[in-house]
Amino acid sequence: MATIAANLQAVRARIARAAAAAGRDPASVTLVAVTKTHAAARVREAHAAGQRAFGESYVQEAAAKMDALAGLALEWHLVGPLQANKTRLAAERFAWVHTLERERIARRLSAQRPGALAPLNVLVQVNVSGESSKSGVAPRDAAALARAVAALPRLRLRGLMAIPEPSADVALQRARFRSLRELCAQLAAEGLALDTLSMGMSGDMEAAIAEGATLVRIGTAIFGAPQEASAVLP
Ligand SMILES: *Cc1c(COP(=O)(O)O)cnc(C)c1O
Repeated sequence: MATIAANLQAVRARIARAAAAAGRDPASVTLVAVTKTHAAARVREAHAAGQRAFGESYVQEAAAKMDALAGLALEWHLVGPLQANKTRLAAERFAWVHTLERERIARRLSAQRPGALAPLNVLVQVNVSGESSKSGVAPRDAAALARAVAALPRLRLRGLMAIPEPSADVALQRARFRSLRELCAQLAAEGLALDTLSMGMSGDMEAAIAEGATLVRIGTAIFGAPQEASAVLP
């Protein structure tokens, strides 16, 4: 089995090739290594191979891993859905939240972000797949939520995030990612300062980078498939 270091190298090469094919600087694409269900020791291995940004889906699982890795300078991204009863822990422990879809959650995060920390970087999650997906705001509602989030003092709105429905059809993948990019450009034209498009996973990162992703969230291609939840979760 390939090591995490070798997998990371392969993923970085994929990013570089996709960026070059799109005439983009590979450094304009940030790799977030998604470690949900994978043990802290594997995060440590990725860190040793030069990886610094990590994504987690479950707030409590993430907090336990952060505690286990407290000595390392890691940047943590919450990429899973956020319930109201987990906002305090999220506000205290993460540098980024990718999955804002309700103003109420945004208000709680802003109120609960500790004063000693920089404002929490946040992305509005948009449903670009219509009926085949339930998470994220509808594209027509993104502007209103983005404006509300941008006005909150302890949040820093950075851009948009999407998880399109899985598809082997590259043209469809690109159409979904393009619609997120166009929505982001529209919001920027309305005056919001946005610099981040979080889109692309192990199966579709090339399409996402072709359409302008500035941040890709990669799990399986680095760590293998997610583990059975019962093996890792409390
Ligand atoms: C698990 C997960 C990823 C990583 O997906 P892979 O297909 O394993 O690369 C990315 N984004 C989110 C929101 C996830 O939950």
